[in-house]
Amino acid sequence: MKIAIPTETQAGESRVAASPDTVKAYIKKGAEVSVQAGAGKGSSIPDSAFAAAGATITQGEFGDADVVLTIRRPSPDLLKSLKRGAILMGGLEPYGDKAGLEAIAQSGVTAFAMELMPRITRAQSMDILSSQANLAGYKAVIDAAYHFNRAFPMMMTAAGTVAAAKVFIMGVGVAGLQAIATARRLGAIVSATDVRKATEEQVKSLGAKFVFADIADAATSGGYAKELTAEDKAKQAALVAEHVKNQDIVITTALIPGRPAPVLISQEMVESMKPGSIIVDLAVERGGNCPLSKPDEIVEHKGVKIVGTLNLAGKLAGNASPLFAKNLANFLDLMIQKDGTLKIDDADDCIKGTMIARDGALVHPMFKGA
Ligand code: NAD
Repeated sequence: MKIAIPTETQAGESRVAASPDTVKAYIKKGAEVSVQAGAGKGSSIPDSAFAAAGATITQGEFGDADVVLTIRRPSPDLLKSLKRGAILMGGLEPYGDKAGLEAIAQSGVTAFAMELMPRITRAQSMDILSSQANLAGYKAVIDAAYHFNRAFPMMMTAAGTVAAAKVFIMGVGVAGLQAIATARRLGAIVSATDVRKATEEQVKSLGAKFVFADIADAATSGGYAKELTAEDKAKQAALVAEHVKNQDIVITTALIPGRPAPVLISQEMVESMKPGSIIVDLAVERGGNCPLSKPDEIVEHKGVKIVGTLNLAGKLAGNASPLFAKNLANFLDLMIQKDGTLKIDDADDCIKGTMIARDGALVHPMFKGA
């Protein structure tokens, strides 16, 4: 079994889909591993560290690979170079750009989009959304603190009292929970909201105040949120509008799988905030929770800074890469047999849930024929 790890080619992508530890583990299972020269540079993993773990460093030949591991969708050139039937697994960005998905299918690979991993207990160790969102939630607070021209904790000094910053987290999934914990550790007064009622207990257990409009619980059986009705949207907007006025920092993380991010902070709400306030919009990649946020820009609107940094987890590549790599290794483990060969068990929920293409066609029920 030959496993190959290419250098990521998408602009700004600093992560790599293997770590020296996962390389060692693959080799122990009988695999030959090749890593493209420089693939780990953005994560401060030199080629020598991959070589010391047992990998061969290549100039980027993937034609004989049985398994190719990536962080993002591979480039068209890389896709064309893969052999039919090779396994491609990574963050394949299944939502949007249908033509790109078709290209993956037409290359003849068996492709697994890790974003589609089911939310079941057994799958937690393979969940790239969780491992990366956790880091993004932390980094969002650190970035907010960097742009904020005041301190987070309350300070009593001889020259007067510094008030604690008020931080509001919108969307209490994996990223939101880490953002709450980080803002609390820095000494802020933290509040948070979500449309899934189950989050109330989690928010309170982290020492933050829960802000919830009088709306129906919008949780799906899969553990995600669904879109609100027009009436509930209006109730939520009214509550948020009142709350946001008094906040120094708002971190938005609200997402609905397969849909554009819900708009939560309108221009009017931004204008109601004090000059110097900060909004960090983690949903910017999917359209943003604030209509003023722009991908990879810091927009200043009437004294309020709206930070739209893309790929926040990638800014912590030193942690993000090993975690992503381990998620992939745990998933590939489901397919590696005792004798070192590969077998795809179609009945396994994690395999079935993430397989998007096979034998030249899109096979996932959400994307085939759509
Ligand atoms: P996500 O990234 O899809 O969304 C982020 C948050 O935004 C969610 O909490 C969602 O409810 C919220 N949201 C959506 N619309 C909103 C709105 N209009 N206003 C406010 N908030 C809104 O979610 P996620 O971080 O991937 O996690 C979702 C859930 O899945 C969490 O409960 C998490 O603990 C759970 N989870 C389970 C597993 C597992 O069991 N394997 C793995 C990861 C996450």
